[in-house]
Amino acid sequence: MRYLRRVNDSRFRALPAVEALVGPDAPGAPARVLRVEAARLVLGEARAAMTANENCTAPSADELTRSASERARKLAEPLQSRVINATGVVLHTNLGRAPLSEPARRAIAQAASGYLSLEYDVPEGRRSHRALGVEAWLTRLTGAEAALAVNNGAAALLLVVSALAQGRKVVVSRGELVEIGGSFRLPEILKKAGATLVEVGTTNRTRLDDYRRALTPEVALILKVHPSNFRLVGFAERPEREELAELARESGVSFVEDVGSGALFDTRTIGVEHEPTVLESLNGGADLVTFSADKLLGGPQAGLVVGRRDRIAALKRDPLARALRIDKLTVAALEATLAAYVDLESAREQIPALALLAAPADAIQAQAERLRDALLSTKHGLVATVVPQASEVGGGALPGASLPTFAVALEAKGRSAAVLERLLRLGRPPIIARIQDDRVLLDARTLLMEDPAEIARIVGEVLAVEA
Ligand SMILES: *Cc1c(COP(=O)(O)O)cnc(C)c1O
Repeated sequence: MRYLRRVNDSRFRALPAVEALVGPDAPGAPARVLRVEAARLVLGEARAAMTANENCTAPSADELTRSASERARKLAEPLQSRVINATGVVLHTNLGRAPLSEPARRAIAQAASGYLSLEYDVPEGRRSHRALGVEAWLTRLTGAEAALAVNNGAAALLLVVSALAQGRKVVVSRGELVEIGGSFRLPEILKKAGATLVEVGTTNRTRLDDYRRALTPEVALILKVHPSNFRLVGFAERPEREELAELARESGVSFVEDVGSGALFDTRTIGVEHEPTVLESLNGGADLVTFSADKLLGGPQAGLVVGRRDRIAALKRDPLARALRIDKLTVAALEATLAAYVDLESAREQIPALALLAAPADAIQAQAERLRDALLSTKHGLVATVVPQASEVGGGALPGASLPTFAVALEAKGRSAAVLERLLRLGRPPIIARIQDDRVLLDARTLLMEDPAEIARIVGEVLAVEA
């Protein structure tokens, strides 16, 4: 038995006790709770290494003390911290999707540092509703009668189905039963909201008649979902949005569209392919439209719903609305983000996601060249060349669409691409890159102005440590 062998093993007796590695309280040292956790981790790893390998002896007390104190310092640092996005994916869900605009960042700082009229009518001196400013901007920008903001796109859909179709049926085309980002599965959301899913049509073809035949008295809602992370090409068919809206109206059921990314403008104006807009959906007859605030909109994480006043009122009455409501920092950032859309020009200037997506190829190339020159000046035997590439939009927007971009292909003598990519991730801040054809690619589309110099510094540091 491994355990018995371990306690009887004299090698383990050479390991110090946890307390010996914790060390005394000292000014500037991490808190005791972190030093204890670090000591346990370091000892656990030493035991695991010795258990796995009979020839492995206990590390020296000095070595363990050093590891434990370094570990304790790491534990004191935030785990979710800034990274440099060199992936080229502008709306990278794992990297926090949209970077926020300067006005949104200021609004967050202000809302966070004191009190604000979150649910307070200042002129009247009485309680009011949360996020009235967000709702005002959403109706102003879309022409919808009413609006509501909740925590994210998934929450918006959950609330819509719960409020409008609980205990009843929701009709969805089989071609739109999507999974988004691994944990968002439409059928599961409908179930959780208390509705029964009625699938119609086939994966590639659904006709208006398929919907019509499904409309029994138990149906409360026809749901159209934008299949935002894949594209069906070839022998495919869907009824027009207007036809679905008319069928829903005739049958007295609600028609809701989840457009996913929620572009408030024609994305072709920033040089990327067409993505369904909120306006198209409203004009096409949707009673409600749901979308995310941190995808093409370029704001903080939130789920937005716009449309008919009576339907929005039903959503607000649902007990889930309270559980899904957005916090004050989101309210602040969202209001500032939406305000930039007062005209598209200011939105393109202020909102980083739009600026990055709209960046002209020659500007990206110039940025890539700045990065290459900065890297070559580090003199670590680096090979850096600017190469044309294609980057994705990300965030479940524009599947299959690729944007022409430029990257720096980086190679370091004596190190494989996998090793170099890992070293970049160990930098402070970490640099997130991708590997292609045995080279590390640093995509210049998602680099901010000051990043090239910082990347060169980080690369110099990680290579010097590893040299
Ligand atoms: C992204 C997306 C969602 C989920 O939105 P989150 O804000 O990530 O919760 C739902 N539906 C569609 C069509 C999407 O593209």
